[in-house]
Amino acid sequence: METPYFILDEKSLIENIMRFKEALEKNWSNSKIAYSIKTNSLPWLLKYMCSNDIFAEAVSQEEYDLAVLCGYNASRIVFNGPIKTEKQFEMAVLNGSIVNIDSQGEIDFLKKKKPVIKGYLGIRVNIDPKIFHDEDVEYSEDGFRFGFADKDGHLENVINDLEKIYGHRNFGLHLHCNTVTRSVDAYQAISKYATELIVKYNLKPKYIDIGGGFFGGVPGKPAADDYISAIRQIFDSVIDVNDTMLIIEPGSALSGSIFDFYTSVLDVKDTLKSRIVTTDGSRINIDPLWIKSRYQYDIINLSKNKIIEDQIICGYTCMDHDRIMRIKNQQELMPGDRIVYHKVGNYTITFGGMFIRYYPEIYVKKTSGEIEMIRHRTSVEEYYNIHN
Ligand SMILES: *Cc1c(COP(=O)(O)O)cnc(C)c1O
Repeated sequence: METPYFILDEKSLIENIMRFKEALEKNWSNSKIAYSIKTNSLPWLLKYMCSNDIFAEAVSQEEYDLAVLCGYNASRIVFNGPIKTEKQFEMAVLNGSIVNIDSQGEIDFLKKKKPVIKGYLGIRVNIDPKIFHDEDVEYSEDGFRFGFADKDGHLENVINDLEKIYGHRNFGLHLHCNTVTRSVDAYQAISKYATELIVKYNLKPKYIDIGGGFFGGVPGKPAADDYISAIRQIFDSVIDVNDTMLIIEPGSALSGSIFDFYTSVLDVKDTLKSRIVTTDGSRINIDPLWIKSRYQYDIINLSKNKIIEDQIICGYTCMDHDRIMRIKNQQELMPGDRIVYHKVGNYTITFGGMFIRYYPEIYVKKTSGEIEMIRHRTSVEEYYNIHN
């Protein structure tokens, strides 16, 4: 197969899904997994999730419609985020989706229109960053962007507003928080915070949506059961898990570890100060946020050369900062050698845009060993048609 390309390992995907399903079955069987579309929105993956009894979690109308296109019924979509328009919000509520409120506009709309909630409605909570260890989160000064905060009375207002319209306090609580460490401690802190709110406002939530942000398929890191058992233990004191459903929204934990990216060395040369190794994969492909400091990788087809001290692995783009990594004391790379980056499926494939070169191919390695192409390389004509 011609590089660059991604390859998805179906066996790893099945394992990641199984770990979470088993953890939920064991600790909180009244539960649902909703796959975070933004993490990797490849239609093949969404269809796979859909046929494996996994809901979809959308944060835009485009994602919502994509889920429908991939086979999802509205009742199996969790609709989140603060950018829903009135029309989109109403449509999702009337069609039976699980909708978590995250904007003042949604509250105003509910007050005005009082639509019948066919599915479920929940409130995104703006969690106080002080409940976490400092190293677990960012924005501890300014706080998180999403949801309604308790301390300033906003959350209470929302609860009261909804009670006035619908006559109960059974709304779901949406608690997704981006943590840096993905630590079990962070989920314990979130859970504890939620139990305090449940008691304080005498809530009977239909569901607890703990959000995403878990590790999955990464040896040495917490596994599904570590997270879910810790969460269950804390909620046990204030709710009956048979009455309250648990929703989890993993993205990275399902799709991160299952993709490898294959690249080839195109050229090797020395500049005044460095050995520059130009490859046909870019940082855009595997680190579009430009934040990674290391990769899990393997070098294959090595030309069995001598060890050299220092090589800078660069991407195909003509940007000087498209430097993927610096490798020390390794065999000297030559054109045609390959570098494979492992576990690069989250926030990469459908996040990095088309720049200089267009989207590479994606293959899936089936459990049978058979390899199938699930996305072809974007042609110049396709690029032209999108932009013209
Ligand atoms: C991004 C996001 C997720 C998924 O996060 P991962 O770190 O990929 O697991 C889940 N829920 C919401 C609301 C999100 O914004």
